[in-house]
Amino acid sequence: VNTPGFRRSKRFSTCSRRRTVMPAWVMDKYGSNDVLRFTKNASFPVITYPNEVIVKVFAAGLNPHDVSMRGGYGAATFSMKRDPLNIKQSGSEFPVTLGREVSGVIMECGLDVKYFREGDEVWAAIPPWKQGSLAEFVILSANEVSHKPKSLSHLEAAAIPYVAATTWSALVNTGGLSKDNCAKKRILILGGSGGVGTFAIQMMKAWGAHVTVTCSQNAERFVRGLGADHVVDYTAGPVEEPLSALEKFDLILDNVGGDAERWALNLLKPWSGAKYVTLVTPFLQNTDRLGIADGMMQTAVTVASKALKHLVKGVHYRWGFFAPSGPALDEIREMVDARQIRPVVEETFDFSQVPQAFEKMEKGHARGKTVVQII
Ligand code: NDP
Repeated sequence: VNTPGFRRSKRFSTCSRRRTVMPAWVMDKYGSNDVLRFTKNASFPVITYPNEVIVKVFAAGLNPHDVSMRGGYGAATFSMKRDPLNIKQSGSEFPVTLGREVSGVIMECGLDVKYFREGDEVWAAIPPWKQGSLAEFVILSANEVSHKPKSLSHLEAAAIPYVAATTWSALVNTGGLSKDNCAKKRILILGGSGGVGTFAIQMMKAWGAHVTVTCSQNAERFVRGLGADHVVDYTAGPVEEPLSALEKFDLILDNVGGDAERWALNLLKPWSGAKYVTLVTPFLQNTDRLGIADGMMQTAVTVASKALKHLVKGVHYRWGFFAPSGPALDEIREMVDARQIRPVVEETFDFSQVPQAFEKMEKGHARGKTVVQII
C-alpha cells in the first residue's frame, strides 16, 4: 500500500495517468521579475502520500510573500522543509512555482482522503515550501484544504485563504482570541488597508470587537467600509501620538513592523493579558543569513529576550506566522457565507499577465488583494 502506484485512488487517477505536463509560471533561479517564465511543460503533480489531493486551479491569489520569495526570501527554511535530511544539492528546488492561494476543484484524491471527492469546489492556502498555484494543478495535503464558500466565485475565493490563515494563526492561535471572548475587546490593527489588514478588520468586527486601524489618509473610507470603528492616518505625523491619546488596547496586530515595537506595547492594557502580535519578524532573514541552526538560535534568543523585557511591564510580546489550516478555513467559510466577511479584490490579472501582477504588487500601497484568473 505504500508504493506510489497503490496510493493513487483508482477512481480519480485518470487525469494524472494521461498527463505528465501542465502549463505553469515557474522560476529557475531567484531574482527580479525577469526570472518568471511561462512553460507548458511543468511537471504534473503526482500523489505520493495517501492524504494528498490534486486541485485544478481556477484562480490564484498573490501576496507580498510571493514577491519576496521570488527574490529568495526564506529559501533556507523552505529548502529544509522540502528536504529535511539535506540530501539534495543546493538549487534542487527549481523550477519553483509561486502563488500561495488557490480556489479550484478537486481532480484526484489519495486513498486516505475521506472528506473530499472529485469535483468538490475547494480553497486553500499553500505552504511556502510547496509548489504554488500559478499553475493548472497544485497538490496539497487534504488537511490544508477546505470546501470553498458557496457565495463566492473562484476569483473572489482565491483572495482569502493565505491572509485568512495568517490572521487566524496570529489572532486565534497566538493572540488567544475567539468568537466567544472578543466582544468589546479593543483591537488595534497597524496597517489595515492591505491583504491581512482588510481580512483582520472584518474577522474582528464579526466577533464583536472594537477595531482601531492605522492606514494612509486615502484609505480611511475604504477601511471604514470594512467595519473599522476608528481610523488613524499614519501619514499625518508620528502615529503613536494620536494612538496614545486613545483608551488602551487588548490586542495589537502589527502588519507593518519598523519602529512600531518601540512604542506600540505602551498602548496595551498592562497586567490584563494584553498582547502585541507582529507578523513582521526576522525569522526567515536569520535562517537565510546564518543558516538553519544559527538562524533558529538567533531567533529564539531575540524573541525570548523581547518577550521577557515586555513581560515585566505586564504585556505580552509575540511573533505571528502563517500556518496552513483547512479547519480554520472551514470556520472562515461559515463567516463568508453568512456575509460577515467579504473578499477584497483590488485587481485581477489573466494567467498570461503574471509578471504584470507582480509589478503591481511591487508598487505597494495595496488596497486588498491581487488575484490571477487561471481558467
Ligand atoms: P500588503 O502589502 O497587502 O499591505 C500592506 C499595507 O500596509 C498597505 O495597504 C500599505 O498601504 C500599508 N502600510 C504601509 N506602511 C504603513 C504604515 N506605516 N502604517 C500603516 N499602514 C501602512 O501586505 P499584507 O497585508 O499581505 O501583509 C502585511 C505584512 O505581514 C507584510 O509585512 C507581510 O510580509 C507580513 N506577513 C507575514 C506573515 C508571516 O508568516 N509572518 C504572513 C503574511 C504576511 P500604504 O502604503 O498606501 O499606506
